[in-house]
Amino acid sequence: TTNLVWLRSDLRVSDNMALYAACRDEQAQVMVLFMATPEQWRQHEMAPRQAQFIYDNLRLLQADLAGRGIPLYTLTCDDFAASVEQLRQFCQQQHVDRVFYNYQYEINERQRDAAAEKSLSEQGIVCQGFDDSVLLPPGSVLTGNREMYKVFTPFSRAFVKRLQQGLPECVPAPRARQNAPRIQQPELTPFGYPLAPYDDALFPPGEAAAIARLRAFCQQPVTAYHQDRDFPAKQGTSLLSAYLATGILSPRQCLHRLLREHPNGLEDERCFVWLNELIWREFYRHVLVAWPHLCKSHPFISWTNHVVWRSDPQQLLAWQQGKTGYPIVDAAMRQLNTLGWMHNRLRMITASFLVKDLLIDWREGERYFMSQLIDGDLAANNGGWQWAASSGMDAAPYFRIFNPTTQGERFDKQGEFIRYWLPELRHVPDAEIHQPHDWAKKNQQKLDYPLPIVDHKQARNRTLGAFDAARKET
Ligand code: FAD
Repeated sequence: TTNLVWLRSDLRVSDNMALYAACRDEQAQVMVLFMATPEQWRQHEMAPRQAQFIYDNLRLLQADLAGRGIPLYTLTCDDFAASVEQLRQFCQQQHVDRVFYNYQYEINERQRDAAAEKSLSEQGIVCQGFDDSVLLPPGSVLTGNREMYKVFTPFSRAFVKRLQQGLPECVPAPRARQNAPRIQQPELTPFGYPLAPYDDALFPPGEAAAIARLRAFCQQPVTAYHQDRDFPAKQGTSLLSAYLATGILSPRQCLHRLLREHPNGLEDERCFVWLNELIWREFYRHVLVAWPHLCKSHPFISWTNHVVWRSDPQQLLAWQQGKTGYPIVDAAMRQLNTLGWMHNRLRMITASFLVKDLLIDWREGERYFMSQLIDGDLAANNGGWQWAASSGMDAAPYFRIFNPTTQGERFDKQGEFIRYWLPELRHVPDAEIHQPHDWAKKNQQKLDYPLPIVDHKQARNRTLGAFDAARKET
């Protein structure tokens, strides 16, 4: 028998459901295939640095699989439609009997998988899919009415109850195939997609690096997470998102590692704060399956469709470039542009600024984030943007509008983070750094830093008016 593992967002050997299942039959020949789909990635705004991260991880994975006697092939085709045909041809050439793959939950991906299953079953090839990138499968955590939760807290409570009844187990990495000599891996094909370098000291590629980071985080920092996680100048979060988004790490590995270090992690409030973030990740995935139209840029709350957004390319550009004149927003955007990663508190502040201060459509922000993030993930990104735009489930109410100055004062009091990313403000004293132009005026200083592009109070009123009007329209 020849078993094929069709890899997508699951670039790891440990705890990989599809790979494990494909290797269970010790007599079977096992091969792995990854297909780059540059045209599709372009449509999905995948960040070139995420593409590079995937490429580097594939290289390491290929070396690892070589030692296990499993060849990893790569193919490049335009889009998902083309990948279905390429997969069929590949299976034919290689005489594949069974295809194993881990589900992806976005709508285009699900349609592709349905098409692939149909086309392969016509060839007599058996396909088997697995819920792998989640702790619990979408559709398995439901309200008493058997519906998906629209509010996070009861979802999280029900989720934990399920975990207390039985934990999803991790599966081991496959052993070396019997009688398989160390193989010569095929060349990785170029993706045909723009690649951009990323900071590989911050995001070292490879499963081993991801596991080492997870272990270190769960040993100690996780217990301080509840205190530190909102302060971007501190290294208070796990920095695991890039690995989780591309499947170099699984959420089950995170859960088990946490519980190994803190056996009462499900109950311990300190550890639970971190676990709850993993449950947010699950929530947004479950939500995508329950309401697939969210993948197509539709808001969850439909009256928000009537908000009349402003078109202001100059202000949009100022936001993208970190030149809004609001230090915490600008420092955050420069962190994003440089690292492809942004601290969660800052994702909320910058998203709120674009939507509620500039009254620019949240979809512009969603797209821009995606184009920059090394951890870009449709479910989490869309969820985060719809939360900030008050258009999602359990989102911030529309009248709750962050004040970017006071957010900066609360979460970067001494301006440590701001000074790192905005060296032009390094001489401004702590107490004044959030309104540097006031300080410059008082002290007759010149600042090479833009004036605020909007007045927050006026912008707030404008946004309240726009949301009120939209609500009345329905
Ligand atoms: P930690 O705080 O250590 O959290 C652990 C893991 O939990 C993360 O790695 C991530 O997988 C998950 N997680 C944490 N917070 C959230 C959340 N609010 N929603 C969903 N999952 C979460 N996360 C992404 O992975 N990809 C995105 O494209 C993305 N876009 C976002 C856009 C906006 C507007 C907002 C507000 C949030 C977004 N997030 C996204 C969620 C969150 O900001 C990042 O997951 C987090 O900052 C990653 O850092 P970390 O790994 O140190 O997280």
